[in-house]
Amino acid sequence: MLKHKFTAALFVLLLLVFIVLNVEWWLYLLIFLVFIGLTSWGSFDIRLNYFIKAYSSNPNEKSRRIALTFDDGPHEMTEKVLDLLLKYNAKATFFCIGNQIEKHPEILQRVIKEGHTVGNHTLSHSKSFGFFSTSQVKEEIEQTDTLLQNKTIKKPLFFRPPFGVTNPNVAKAIAQTGHSVIGWNIRSLDTVIDDETKIFQRIKKKVKPGGIVLLHDTSLKTVNVLEQLLLFLQSEKYEMITVDKLLNISAYEN
Ligand SMILES: [Zn+2]
Repeated sequence: MLKHKFTAALFVLLLLVFIVLNVEWWLYLLIFLVFIGLTSWGSFDIRLNYFIKAYSSNPNEKSRRIALTFDDGPHEMTEKVLDLLLKYNAKATFFCIGNQIEKHPEILQRVIKEGHTVGNHTLSHSKSFGFFSTSQVKEEIEQTDTLLQNKTIKKPLFFRPPFGVTNPNVAKAIAQTGHSVIGWNIRSLDTVIDDETKIFQRIKKKVKPGGIVLLHDTSLKTVNVLEQLLLFLQSEKYEMITVDKLLNISAYEN
């Protein structure tokens, strides 16, 4: 059973026990706050698998294989990322925003042509994604799937929710669209931290076989961090592969 369903059931049970025992009012407030706290925590930390089962790494990977992922493109900076990946013989996975594909269709073509994997990151990457209805989530995913498909690839099966937010509506939408949710276990915070060295050190400390690194192909800062990271991974004899290869699951429909 998913953790959210377990928590909800436990919450209802406790509530009934409290009513029967006629406990004091602050106990109701306490369990209510705990429930709200757990639910918010669960919706913001994709690694918890609170509402949805998400793949955040391959814990069984023994060899030095790791997956770099780039969110929020295609973007002007994606070309620089692609140049570096080519230079260091690395493959990566790009979670694309539908609206960005419409702005840079040729960059998406290059990503696919160079052997990288692409996945769905919604149409608008809205800040209110966490408040979307099931049908809104589904529509954003389906429109982006259409934009991602081309002669080379069929319907994408990978989805990464914006901000890593999951909730019951996202879970319902995903169950209908049939996507696998891809999270991460190495968060670079490359859109939050300004200092490139700090970002690199943060990733470096967490590097291990089977890891999935979250980066964004939207800034020169990340491009600079990426070159340091690729040099480091190369020196550590890591193989940088796509998420489908790392997890051994399909990225596209057959
Ligand atoms: Zn994003």
